[in-house]
Amino acid sequence: MESKTERNEDKVFKLSLESVGKFQLGKRIVLIPEMNRIAAYLFASTFKSFGIDARVLETFKGMDLGIEYTSGKECYPCQVTMGDILYFAKKEKERLGDAFKPENYVYFLPESDGPCRYGMYNKYQRIVLDSFPGLDKLKIFSLTTKDGYSVDGMIPSEQILDFKKAGYFSLLIADLMDRLLWRIRPYEKKPGMADEFIERAMRVMGQCFEAYGQSLEFDRILSRLEEIIGEGNTIIDPEVPQKPLIGIVGEIFLRMHCGSNQDLIRTLERHGAEVVNASLCEWVNYASYEPLREARENFRLNLKSLRLGHLKTYIKDMMRYGLDLFYKEHKQKQVYKRVQPLLNLADDHKISHLEKILKEDDIFSFDVGTEACLSISAIIQYAREGYNGIVNVYPFTCMPSTTTSAVVRPLMNRLGVPYLDTPYDASIQPGREAAIRTFMYQAYQHYKRHGRKV
Ligand code: SF4
Repeated sequence: MESKTERNEDKVFKLSLESVGKFQLGKRIVLIPEMNRIAAYLFASTFKSFGIDARVLETFKGMDLGIEYTSGKECYPCQVTMGDILYFAKKEKERLGDAFKPENYVYFLPESDGPCRYGMYNKYQRIVLDSFPGLDKLKIFSLTTKDGYSVDGMIPSEQILDFKKAGYFSLLIADLMDRLLWRIRPYEKKPGMADEFIERAMRVMGQCFEAYGQSLEFDRILSRLEEIIGEGNTIIDPEVPQKPLIGIVGEIFLRMHCGSNQDLIRTLERHGAEVVNASLCEWVNYASYEPLREARENFRLNLKSLRLGHLKTYIKDMMRYGLDLFYKEHKQKQVYKRVQPLLNLADDHKISHLEKILKEDDIFSFDVGTEACLSISAIIQYAREGYNGIVNVYPFTCMPSTTTSAVVRPLMNRLGVPYLDTPYDASIQPGREAAIRTFMYQAYQHYKRHGRKV
């Protein structure tokens, strides 16, 4: 029989969950965690264009709080985001005093379905927030991969479609601006020029999204992006010789969050690399691809065993996710095609193509899910495209990334492509710099022997 304590715990957990989920934002201020700096900024600008106040949370300043309120068994992104929200609440309380009303804010925290812990982090953070007086009123808006990060119910239904389009477009532009930065920074005329330029460009694009996001005037945004790419091109010093090309794959948060990965891209650049990181849209597209794939599979299995009851639901899901994915990939292709003639920015991976790669080599399967299926296939794709080295970045103990490492290491050895695992947590590994330097030496040897195809 259930004890009284158990019943109380159940109740507490249930109550907590009522403030995690999807709901109308109303007049609340949206708090966006800074996983990718440019994407968070442009996404916040998109919210503003729809008349919703949004702020990007300062990141990495509350790491002591993040560590204090986690047990150490969570993975690193949980500690970082935990610290970010607690730091915000602390600072906002100091700034506003009694005028600080936690109920006026909504904390945006995406989650992922699957075998790992990430799906539980918003619940865990809910429990921690509830333990502070008043912070139980600060709601957590949870986006989940289960429904392809649907934002239904967040704003009035007549605006949802436009918001989805503008939001995706902001992530797409953020990807391109990141690619621009990685393309020009290793060849900049003066140290610091590229960083200063991108920071400025990010503000300009933010203004564009505020002005044209809601009205979906993407052409105007793209015209401004074209000017930015043209200006970025002038930062490249033509006298600097071409460098070995390094591809990055791995866990989405660690890949994107420069503080958590101890500025991995910059470190690689310091040792002579030009780098391309797997994009944010790759993950977002995968979040639509996965439920589409599942609906297709369910439809097939049910049809085969003549269980016809649910077929209509699966058809509806296939239409919904199929159209969503089609729109995203089409937009992505259109935008890349438009800006690539200005500067050869790296192409993005198409998810169905990545799945095909795994099937060809019969080395892993999308049935297993998680980021491992994206990372393994993207590594093979990088190798085929002639990259000179590949880095897998992830939180220490991350299950899918450890799987990736186990699967691709022998393959990379066979192909003779330099490969490096870089797990991170809040500590500094003394041998890291030496490992990166050695890896870059190997990548340079690869470059000397094979050159660069892209
Ligand atoms: S997949 Fe990796 S990053 Fe995500 S929760 Fe699991 S360990 Fe953490």
